[in-house]
Amino acid sequence: MMDTTALEAEMTAWRHDLHRHPEFGFEEVRTAAFVAEKLRSFGLDVTEGVGGTGVVGTVQRGTSNRAIALRADMDALRITETSETGWASTNKGVMHACGHDGHTAMLLGAAQVLAQEGGFDGTIRFLFQPAEEWGKGALAMITDGLLSRFPFDEVFGLHNLPGLPVGHLESRPGPIMSAEDNFEITLHGQGGHAARPQTTRETMVPACALVLDLQTIVARRLDPTDVAVLSVTEILTDGTRNALPGHARILGDARSFRPEVSTRIEAEMRRIASGIAAAYGVEAKVSYTREFVPLINDADLTAEVLTAAETVSTQVTEASQPMTASEDFARFLDHVPGCFAFIGNGETSAPLHSPTYDFNDTALGHGCRVFIAIARQRLSNA
Ligand SMILES: [Zn+2]
Ligand SMILES: [Zn+2]
Repeated sequence: MMDTTALEAEMTAWRHDLHRHPEFGFEEVRTAAFVAEKLRSFGLDVTEGVGGTGVVGTVQRGTSNRAIALRADMDALRITETSETGWASTNKGVMHACGHDGHTAMLLGAAQVLAQEGGFDGTIRFLFQPAEEWGKGALAMITDGLLSRFPFDEVFGLHNLPGLPVGHLESRPGPIMSAEDNFEITLHGQGGHAARPQTTRETMVPACALVLDLQTIVARRLDPTDVAVLSVTEILTDGTRNALPGHARILGDARSFRPEVSTRIEAEMRRIASGIAAAYGVEAKVSYTREFVPLINDADLTAEVLTAAETVSTQVTEASQPMTASEDFARFLDHVPGCFAFIGNGETSAPLHSPTYDFNDTALGHGCRVFIAIARQRLSNA
């Protein structure tokens, strides 16, 4: 394995540049141009505008027709940065609070090394996806023909993890991150005087009954060995002092790890909403959307990633539990097997999506070396 120390200063400079100029999902115009310019300077074939602002770089060596993809995300969040580093955001109200600047920089570093030093037999696709935080960027690239225009057999991604020491890598076979579904239930009745509820078909009591009954989906309607979370996060009504509401909106979020569980949650929600509506003489409408699919790692490829990472990490761990956060990388795994893994961002790192968060520059070399090790192991020319 080569020494990436010389590259680390360069990756740090790229990371700081990207951090100063964060862009929201599907608006990564400057970022995409930055990525494309670097990839071209390393000698890759580059296609821009894949799925909006996505960029694909390709490098090919040897004779094998095998192809793998390495993926990074480029988008930032609508969060106002409060830290005062020399590279703090200059785009007010937008911030790289999830470390996608670091992911982009370390994949660029890996692209440079692999393009210039080779050490593999086959094709490597470098995917720089837009709009990860929306859960829309991967699908936009796939819909734009990613898989037929730039075919690959396997796909790999890394995300930094606050709390995990720098140099450590963690992953697990099977489910590792959850699906995220959003729902909105609207109740329509007839509002009226708070002192004469019998003359109304008010929606406050049915809304409250609905919130409680929705809790029976996870507690009583799913297999107890299936992990799921259902959270009602908002109740909005048109009621006011001394007037009962005639409308209510109940909004929330559901997480699960198997499509069957997500389907079941939606079906049970529709059943409960129409039952409550009938019991209280109001109408219910359910809107249920799937924002993120569950991230399911391929077992064999996860074992490969853990083995490859061993050679360039201070510690590699198989995580015992999945997380109930969500990741757009999962969309690629709907089509191609692969593995998503976490690298340490340090024990003192602020949490992801916090206004004081910053990607740890000392993790750039580790992430870069892990990408290179995966590529060389999966496209071994030995
Ligand atoms: Zn995020
Ligand atoms: Zn992220």
